[in-house]
Amino acid sequence: MSTSASAHSSAAIDATSTEGTVIDRLVRANTHYAADFADPGMDARPVRRVAVVACMDARLDLHAALGLELGDCHTIRNAGGVVTDDVIRSLTISQRALGTRSVMLVHHTNCGLEDLTEDFRHEIEDEVGQRPAWAVEAFRDVDQDVRQSMKRVRTSPFLLYADDVRGFVFDVTTGRLREIDPAGADTPADTADPAA
Ligand SMILES: [Zn+2]
Repeated sequence: MSTSASAHSSAAIDATSTEGTVIDRLVRANTHYAADFADPGMDARPVRRVAVVACMDARLDLHAALGLELGDCHTIRNAGGVVTDDVIRSLTISQRALGTRSVMLVHHTNCGLEDLTEDFRHEIEDEVGQRPAWAVEAFRDVDQDVRQSMKRVRTSPFLLYADDVRGFVFDVTTGRLREIDPAGADTPADTADPAA
């Protein structure tokens, strides 16, 4: 600590310091981000007119993986990248108020939802005395889950544009996207899942 303190500016010390909580460190990182930040002068409408719905998985860096820049897209993320009512809410606002036209869905291999079942809700109910109102949306077949998500977007009555909706599985070990045919049958030969 003190050795690096003598060699670096106080700003550099802050950036690498492990002091405080994780959120303390995030707030310190923001001071460095803001120091170099120039107002890009953008409005809120995404430049590429696309909304990306993806899993919250920490291994999925959407902007890097898809070549996206600041201001390009809306990103809507949750556990599984599931198209819930709240995702439809965001997509509706994205299209009707902020001009997006395309919807890209990105699920991924080795998703945490594959290890859960709806029992998760019952276990929570047993523990806290109240069952969550939401579904876990656990799944066993990621391809089928992407198809279901595409279908929920395409059949939503609230969206203006459902003609350019495409779904993909991101492989967390290779970084590659694999497109899912919305009408396709399952392709068990493609999966290396021993449980399949
Ligand atoms: Zn996931």
